[in-house]
Order: sequence, then C-alpha cells, then structure tokens
Amino acid sequence: MPVIHLLSQSTIDKIAAGEVVERPLSVVKELTENAIDAGADAITVEIKEGGISLIRVTDNGCGIEKDQVKKAFLRHATSKITSIDDLNFVKSLGFRGEALSSIAAVAQVEVITKTEADITGVRYAISGGAEEELEEIGAPKGTTFLVRNLFFNTPVRKKFLKQPQTEGSYVSDMMEHLALSHPEIAIKFVQNGQIKFHTSGNGNLKEVIYRIYGRDIERALIPFEFNAEHFKVSGFIGKPEINRSNRNFETYFVNGRYVKNDIITKAVEEGYRAYLMQHKFPFFVFHFMMEPDMIDVNVHPAKMEIRLIQGNTLYEQLSQSVQKCLKEIELIPDVV
Ligand code: ADP
Ligand code: MG
Repeated sequence: MPVIHLLSQSTIDKIAAGEVVERPLSVVKELTENAIDAGADAITVEIKEGGISLIRVTDNGCGIEKDQVKKAFLRHATSKITSIDDLNFVKSLGFRGEALSSIAAVAQVEVITKTEADITGVRYAISGGAEEELEEIGAPKGTTFLVRNLFFNTPVRKKFLKQPQTEGSYVSDMMEHLALSHPEIAIKFVQNGQIKFHTSGNGNLKEVIYRIYGRDIERALIPFEFNAEHFKVSGFIGKPEINRSNRNFETYFVNGRYVKNDIITKAVEEGYRAYLMQHKFPFFVFHFMMEPDMIDVNVHPAKMEIRLIQGNTLYEQLSQSVQKCLKEIELIPDVV
C-alpha cells in the first residue's frame, strides 16, 4: 500500500500559487488591482526583462498598517471581505486574499509601505514564502512592491515562460488597458528603464489615448456616445484613415473591466463596415456601463470573455449607432 503523507506548507503554497501567478502579467495585474483598491490616484509600474527579473509597483494609496504587513502575506488574508455573503457586494475582482501569499511563494518580494497616520514606514522582505526581515524605514505615504526573479524556486514553471520580450508585451498591453480604463489615475509605465507612457490622471480619456498611441491617432478620433435602455456606451472611434490591420486596437471595457465579447466586436465592425477595406479593423476605445443582469456572471472572473444576455438587442442598437455616428461626420481625411 502506498504511504499517505502530508505535503509541506511550502509545497502547498507553491501549488496554490500556480493558480494565481502564471506569468509576470498576473503579478502586475494583482498588484495594480491592490493599488486601485487602496485608493491610489497615481501608480507607477516598472518591469525589467519582461517582468521576470523585476517588477516594481508603486502607489500613493492608503498603505498597510505596520502590524498588518506580515498578515497581508498569509493565504486568505484580505481586508476586503469577511464572509461568503460579502462576495455578492465586492466590486474588486481580487478578493480571494491569495495574491500576496502566492506571489511571495514563487519570487523574492520586498514591500515598503506607510500609512498617512504613521511617521515612519516599514520594509518587509519575504522570499519563496520565507520571511527575511521587517524594519522601520522612511517612506512616502503609499506602497511599493518589488518582485524579483519570478519562479526562481520553481524552475519548471520558469521554463514555461516565453521570451522576456513576449512576457513584456503582455504586461505592456495590460498597462495600456489599465490606463484607458482609469483616466482618473495617473499611470506611468517603465520598461527596461524607458518610460513607455505616463498619463496625467485628469480624467480625460482622449488625452490618455494620445499618451499611449500618439498624436496621429489622437487627431483622428471621433467622440462616440450612445444611451440605450439597458446600457450606455461612451468613448472614441477612429476615422478610417487610422484603420488597423488587426483587432488589437479594438478596446472596450464593461463596467470598468477589460473584456472580450464577440457580439460587441462584431456590432462595432458591422456599424463601421462601409468604411472598412478588407482585412482592416477599426480603432476604438469604448466604455460600457451595463446593468449587472445583462452580463452572465457564471463565467469565470479571471477570464476575459463575457457572455451577454439580450445580446441581439445590443448588437442591433450598437451597430446602428456606430453607423449613424460615422455618417454624421465628414470622413474625408485631412490633407496636410
Ligand atoms: P486581496 O486583495 O484579495 O485582499 P491580496 O493578497 O492581494 O488579497 O492582499 C492582501 C491584503 O493586503 C489586502 O486585502 C490589503 O489589505 C493589503 N494590501 C495589498 N496591497 C496593498 C496596497 N498596494 N495598498 C494597501 N494595502 C494593500
Ligand atoms: Mg488583491
């Protein structure tokens, strides 16, 4: 008979971490979500080698109380829910209280944090789940996480990572989406020592688009707004002169979340059809506000795909309003 034995805590943690931390992108996602939950209105993200050797996330949010810092890294440690009933009310997606413990299980992590009320901050280091040190340190209000050498203690997982450039491009895409979904937060993204973009946090979506995509794109934007009975949408759509050759510039958020949905994609493309050459796709950034009962919540929260209830109505209304918007303006490219 095989002998049954219990796995060590560190093995259990590493296995559990696999569900949360798949690649540098997941770390950046969790840490920026925490920063937003902490009420930050400025967030800086820096990565090196695609985030594999270094991820640094700095926010000016509420900070973590000194005596809570260690606790924050325990599995199922969260300040966001206390019981299963709260799950219905939390807005944040990262409510599992597993992010920090998972990240710390598979990387070398350092956090520097200070609350408004405290005079000094604290620095805490934890590596591969093992506590290293806790010390008082001068720091501004807010929190900085440093995550070094992801998967240093799980070589097999590390092998599954793609090239740093590819991992970096995943993070970069996510950072763009983060900035576009939060024009009210000043977001700075630094890759291998180079500032990729820096938004002002003044709430102006058009300005965020300019900061990310540049002047030529910004000049060719048409404001788009539509209020239907069950949803609202606002944002910008590109003039045909900036049509793209892939779908990477079809960006939309539903209730603040970056998602993918066939009905939305097809509806906008259909509305745009008269101005699309073959194999070309429109540029657009849309924010949808939908009543919660329009979205099928049974789809896994970590997945980007969402299912819409009453999708047909939305398809009709959205494609028609896009078409109308384009018809109303003069679509002849500016001759410079
Ligand atoms: P969750 O976000 O699901 O609560 P995490 O493991 O991501 O779990 O974080 C644990 C706790 O640590 C949070 O509930 C929060 O209290 C605290 N925390 C994490 N990141 C920050 C941050 N950037 N600013 C303030 N508090 C934070
Ligand atoms: Mg979290």
